[in-house]
Amino acid sequence: MSPASLSVVSDAVTVRVPAKVNLYLGVGPLRDDGYHDLVTVFQALSLCDDVRVSPSTDLHVTTTGEGAAEVPSDGDNLAARAVTAVGTRVGRTPKVAIDVTKRIPVAGGMAGGSADAAGALVGVSALWDLDLDRTDLADIAADLGSDVPFALHGGTALGTGRGEQLMSILARGEFHWVLALSRVGLSTPAVYRELDRLRENRSQYDIEVERPDELMAALTSGDPHKVAPLLRNDLQPAALSLQPTLRRTLRAGIDAGALNGIVSGSGPTCAFLCADEAAAVNVAAELSGAGVARAVRTASGPVPGARILIN
Ligand code: ATP
Repeated sequence: MSPASLSVVSDAVTVRVPAKVNLYLGVGPLRDDGYHDLVTVFQALSLCDDVRVSPSTDLHVTTTGEGAAEVPSDGDNLAARAVTAVGTRVGRTPKVAIDVTKRIPVAGGMAGGSADAAGALVGVSALWDLDLDRTDLADIAADLGSDVPFALHGGTALGTGRGEQLMSILARGEFHWVLALSRVGLSTPAVYRELDRLRENRSQYDIEVERPDELMAALTSGDPHKVAPLLRNDLQPAALSLQPTLRRTLRAGIDAGALNGIVSGSGPTCAFLCADEAAAVNVAAELSGAGVARAVRTASGPVPGARILIN
């Protein structure tokens, strides 16, 4: 997002925001403050929500599309919280209507709510013609949630801390993914609790999280065959423990010809890396027929973070 794009003022602003997949998610021991230190590699995918903000008499949210019925329409909606946070920062009452067109699965481990928050941040900054730069937005984003800064940033990035401290990674070329959407969502806090339970008998000192240098080099090479065996998600055993049928989904994707499959973030969406676009289309068709997922999508990455759509 260029600073120029923030100066767009209009009656309505629409922002396109990407889903993310974690190519690597190393989860450190449980900290005293209840968080876990993470080392993660994010990639922004072409599966996007659109967030439209426009002036209104009060703050409200309407959602249409994928999983709309499960998305809160009150102040708990992450997009509404983002607008409120900006209002507080600049001393303005948030009289804004937010319309979200959802394509990112809700509670799917693809950070859809965080993406909507990032979209609302960028949208309201433009709508109100605010002088907020990328750093200001990233600060507000980090307060809203660990995945919100990446939804602003986009591309491929290494995340540390709670995932909010980002460093761009050079990823050459385009990677092709197939996403298997689950029938039932998974709550992120429940998946972390399950991970802590599974780790109960391990000393916290045995839990090491390394920087994924080999994966970062593979991404720079642009070769999906090198990237595929290096995909890793420490939350996967916990997600599989809570939703054992995901094992079948992962197996079906590999059998269909994917190079590798992984639970995306806290799940339950399964993400399959494919050799190229044609392979992804084939894997998607086979997975659809296998009956292991509620819906199947293809997507490519990396794509940019939150960006204003010019009408
Ligand atoms: P993450 O990968 O960041 O852990 P997720 O992709 O698993 O998150 P989300 O789709 O972000 O999950 O939704 C998590 C919960 O947040 C939902 O169950 C929903 O009640 C709530 N929520 C609040 N705002 C939104 C929003 N704009 N879109 C989706 N869910 C939202």
